[in-house]
Amino acid sequence: MKKTICKYSFGVGDRFAHQGEAQLNALMKAANLGVEFIPVWNKSNREHTNINSTPNNVRVEADNAVKTLNWKGQYFVDADHINLSNVDWFMDSSDFFTIDVADFIGKESDAVEIADFLKVNEKYLGELQIPGIDESISVNKNKLKQIADKFLFAIKEASVIYKYIEQKKGKGNFIPEVSMDEVEDPQSPVELFFILSALSFYNLPVQTLAPKFTGRFNKGVDYVGDLDLFKKEFEQDLLVVDFAINEFGLPENLKLSIHSGSDKFSIYPIIGDLIKKYDKGIHIKTAGTTWLEEVIGLAIASSDSLLLVKQIYYEAYEKIDELAMPYATVIDIDLKQLPRPDEVRDWSGEKFANSLRHIPGHPDYNLNFRQLLHVAYKLAANRGSTYTTALQQNKQIVAKQVTENIFERHIKRMFKTVK
Ligand SMILES: [Zn+2]
Repeated sequence: MKKTICKYSFGVGDRFAHQGEAQLNALMKAANLGVEFIPVWNKSNREHTNINSTPNNVRVEADNAVKTLNWKGQYFVDADHINLSNVDWFMDSSDFFTIDVADFIGKESDAVEIADFLKVNEKYLGELQIPGIDESISVNKNKLKQIADKFLFAIKEASVIYKYIEQKKGKGNFIPEVSMDEVEDPQSPVELFFILSALSFYNLPVQTLAPKFTGRFNKGVDYVGDLDLFKKEFEQDLLVVDFAINEFGLPENLKLSIHSGSDKFSIYPIIGDLIKKYDKGIHIKTAGTTWLEEVIGLAIASSDSLLLVKQIYYEAYEKIDELAMPYATVIDIDLKQLPRPDEVRDWSGEKFANSLRHIPGHPDYNLNFRQLLHVAYKLAANRGSTYTTALQQNKQIVAKQVTENIFERHIKRMFKTVK
């Protein structure tokens, strides 16, 4: 039977693979209140390399959590941000593949394929009317050619990777996502329309698509950008997807995927309202938000575990350049606002937790502190069993933070109907 992902899915990244049950618990709480969110455990090649874990660890974690909690719904294991050079490693353990082609945007396509693509899309030249969008969009030959020049090569690359996976896994046995979020410029709704056309042109039955939206999607903190502009763009994107499904014969359940999607509290009500209005699905992909809840749990659990997380912070403070560099496009740390290690030395567990916990408006909340710790997970990994033993010893208090964060601060904000 062909695998199709259901309407609402939540990408639960888990750096150290200890919180699968706590994460699944949060989604089960949502289910009890009438919102069916299914879990997708995602981990990228970069994270595996930083932590020395393997894709199979994620599979074992997911299967165990599902078994222990007797979850009967769908769940997937996502090979996040893969390409041809590393996909083999994920092949056996994953059934969801995020094909990342951001690096191929703007590369030169084959002239014959460009010409064919322009021919296929000739009928959209002139005033393009997308049902539901009031303004019509002028598309002339030049504009269409520009879009093809920018994206066709990347989409072809996605299709090559897709076919490679299909050959190994079998058709319909996995969920294909295409991502192009890790770039500077957002893709406009009209670009999205022709990207979807290109996906169909290369026969890629994409089920979730992660564009770069307008604004900053920094790791672990709120959205930074113009909310009205985001709302307009997101609404148009939903209508474009809806139209494209019919126009290009793409999978009926095709939906948008929001990367770095945790902690974007100010846009959740907008997303929630619009997907309900148009009866569309969503995939929210998160990663480090769970790791930060582990640190919060350890800060308040005992004096020993507080010391452990303080030491991780001192080290992160020293190594900020090295830690932040790979995440340059997705973090913004104001160095002047970071607490100095000699200040943090005197902090209580509560003070440490409150500075880190994402409660907008809380007097202790410090988003710079939070972002630095967000990228410092490698330092916990370097501590090996010292860190994971602390997680096991304080399992309950850590799990409580993880569940509460996903359910209370994320899902409830998106679906205000949840009481
Ligand atoms: Zn991404």
